[in-house]
Amino acid sequence: MKASMIIHPEELSREWIDKLVEAGIPTLGIHPVGGAGVARHSLSALVTLMETKDYRDLIDYAHSRGLAVEYEMHAAGYLMPPELYAEHPEYFRINAKGERTADCNFCVSEPKALSLFAARAAELAENLYGSSDTFYFWMDDGYDLHCHCPCCRALSASDQQLIAINAMLREIKKKKPNARMAYLAYMDSILPPTSVLPENGVFLEYAPFEKYTAKGEDAPMRIAREREMLRPLMEFFQDGPCRVLEYWYDNSMLSGWKKPPKKFELDEKTMRAEIAAYKAQGFTEIATFACFLGKDYEALHGGVDVNAFAEDTAD
Ligand SMILES: [Zn+2]
Repeated sequence: MKASMIIHPEELSREWIDKLVEAGIPTLGIHPVGGAGVARHSLSALVTLMETKDYRDLIDYAHSRGLAVEYEMHAAGYLMPPELYAEHPEYFRINAKGERTADCNFCVSEPKALSLFAARAAELAENLYGSSDTFYFWMDDGYDLHCHCPCCRALSASDQQLIAINAMLREIKKKKPNARMAYLAYMDSILPPTSVLPENGVFLEYAPFEKYTAKGEDAPMRIAREREMLRPLMEFFQDGPCRVLEYWYDNSMLSGWKKPPKKFELDEKTMRAEIAAYKAQGFTEIATFACFLGKDYEALHGGVDVNAFAEDTAD
């Protein structure tokens, strides 16, 4: 199956590339740091980094060793910069309190906003150095970040994400006719869309984030809902591959997303059981974050073995 390990761009090294190749993991994922107010800046820094010879040499080396390269990130804040608010407040969302705000995402019912967002996505797709034709341009990260304006009110967070994805993919396909794009089922987009159908080439990417992070009174409900939505999501996106994005090697999560990285220990038994379960459910692609395991990690704690993930995703 298609397996992928996803790291931060600043962690990319020949050692990481060699490790993936030697283990037999076919895809390297690059993920600029996410988070509210951070993701658009880290994506912008990646766009600059991708212009440098050092970065391009590493991606060229990855290709020469047979690795595919993909980029996965929360892209909405970069694609709809808040600086546009002063001139075009109508491009931005109205939050649940009824206030127009440039904090996250945008108004998908505003045609000019949607076409600008899609045009910038197509430009970004062109600029992702060494990328395959599969794109992961996620909306901003968090709950209830969609638009509540009178035109958008009837559309769920999932519907609004799919409207944005369809528009981006249509624009990207003008230059890359085989392009595909992931719908990220995650937090409030874990509910299948109800008012919009996917363009050809949109596929499911399911990230079981709540399993790791849900806290408080409604945590059991959120975790159960995540599990219960899987079958309806897979049926909704039945024409594409089914991808799961896991956190088994995500030392950034285990470190509380703060450096220095903590000592990482893989829960191998749980990972192997979950990979088997995902395969049985019909998933065809498995990715895991593997952030905070770069050179600074190795200097502190030594190398991390990725063979268990490679072995279980090999067929
Ligand atoms: Zn709206």
